[in-house]
Amino acid sequence: MSVYQGKGVYGAVAVGRASIFSRQAADVRRVNIEDTEKELQRVEAAKAIAVGQLEAIHDKALKEVGETNAEIFEIHIMMLDDEDYNDSIKSIIETQKVNAEYAVAVTSDNFAEMFASMDDAYMQARSADVKDISNRLIACMTSGGEADELNDEKMIVCADDLAPSETVSLDKDKVLAFVTAFGSSNSHTAILARNMNIPAVIGAGKEFLQSIHNGDMLIVDGHTGEIIVSPDEDTIKKYTEKQAADIKKKQLLQELKGKENITLDGTKINIFANIGGVGGIGSVLANDAGGIGLFRSEFLYLESEDYPTEEQQFNAYRKILESMAGKKVIIRTLDIGADKQIGYFDLDKEDNPALGLRAIRICLTRPEIFRTQLRALFRASAFGSLGIMFPMITSVSEVEKCLALCDEVKNELVSDGIRIGENTEIGIMIETPAAAVISDKLAPLVDFFSVGTNDLTQYTLACDRQNAKLESFVDTHHEAVLRLIEMSAKNAHANNAWIGICGELAADLTLTETFLKMGIDELSVSPPYVLPLREKVRSTDLRKV
Ligand code: PEP
Ligand code: MG
Repeated sequence: MSVYQGKGVYGAVAVGRASIFSRQAADVRRVNIEDTEKELQRVEAAKAIAVGQLEAIHDKALKEVGETNAEIFEIHIMMLDDEDYNDSIKSIIETQKVNAEYAVAVTSDNFAEMFASMDDAYMQARSADVKDISNRLIACMTSGGEADELNDEKMIVCADDLAPSETVSLDKDKVLAFVTAFGSSNSHTAILARNMNIPAVIGAGKEFLQSIHNGDMLIVDGHTGEIIVSPDEDTIKKYTEKQAADIKKKQLLQELKGKENITLDGTKINIFANIGGVGGIGSVLANDAGGIGLFRSEFLYLESEDYPTEEQQFNAYRKILESMAGKKVIIRTLDIGADKQIGYFDLDKEDNPALGLRAIRICLTRPEIFRTQLRALFRASAFGSLGIMFPMITSVSEVEKCLALCDEVKNELVSDGIRIGENTEIGIMIETPAAAVISDKLAPLVDFFSVGTNDLTQYTLACDRQNAKLESFVDTHHEAVLRLIEMSAKNAHANNAWIGICGELAADLTLTETFLKMGIDELSVSPPYVLPLREKVRSTDLRKV
């Protein structure tokens, strides 16, 4: 029995046999050919099959994981049609007189390397995509596109990494869990795993993959990120019990749907959900969240090839507001920079990106981008109960500039005869120590605060949130962070503003009582945490010391 440690990205336990994910492209051989025309035709025929498959996967993804997550497959279809990509395949076949599979594999390696060496994270991510579409093309040439079938037993899929199309193509009825040796918790794969409700652990390490064989018995604990290879009987029993307890708990939590978020002594709190795309609405509703406390609008930009237009943004915001049918929807304006880089923004490389040009600083220095987003937001405000929230605020003057632009945009829309909502709330994120310390000056300007504890912790403790080596230095319950939250709550309430928390700490059940005592009005968490948090609130009694 051996134990490996990765990062759990979806909390559930699986016990079953390993199925090592293999790709057909690994078997590609170079074959000299005479008839280059025939090879070119084979590429075209394979492309037609691949596009058909991708359209089917896109439709499946649309139903299962939503529009935003499904968009990646539209990108794959476009990539298959890319002129440079196709020219490269053609030129290798014609000049080297080689088989089509080999030309695709070489093109794939060249393009993947080129993307990987680019500076911006978005283009780097295309490296996995080009490999993915090339593998598909090769599979279509060698087997007419038949995918490897898993056998009838449900298996735990183990891979070096999984491309988005590979993840979504996995037949959920045959997959117990998946484990990848590499990958980050912000990858498409991790995001898809959470949305697909499949227990998943990523970043288990190269050694894990080297140590396992098809059919090995595994335990995957998506809560702790532990993977146990060849567990003994006692361990299997222990985890089977944990699994059963998980299932029972989830069933019991369903009974909390429709119930109030109220403590035993009668204190009420709103529990909202955080999402990154329109596709997340399904799980917000399924988990009975009272609203959306954080819509990370930058995902609309991250998943787009170019600046999303006012119309595209309006449609997305309108859809969220309409789907939430009058429940509060807080949309955070663009928060890029630092770890979220987008190629077409052409941002300079910075020595300290977390302390650099990010979020509201970008919006205020590029008002044309900000104006487009605000126009889309105010237009959408007519279709529900909207809150607009500005990220990374550090000063009164930043808020004043945001408010002035909001007024300008609203006046512009009204004078053009465009209907806007009457009760749109304006808020700011409290995610810098500066904002918390001057929260008495900021509160009179806004309707609400939302505490971004991920960044507030990073900046208060001077610990880069991207740096895994600092984990032992990050005390998530640090008194300094809690005092800043408490100070912000007092200042919000003294100025008739309400205050929520939308960072990860909102889901920390060991702090629920502390937050309730501070008078926090709203906690916004990932959708699967809504019901556990409701349960915690309902079992809390603030009269007990
Ligand atoms: C935060 O900083 O806590 C937050 C919610 O924003 P993000 O994690 O998107 O930076
Ligand atoms: Mg933040």
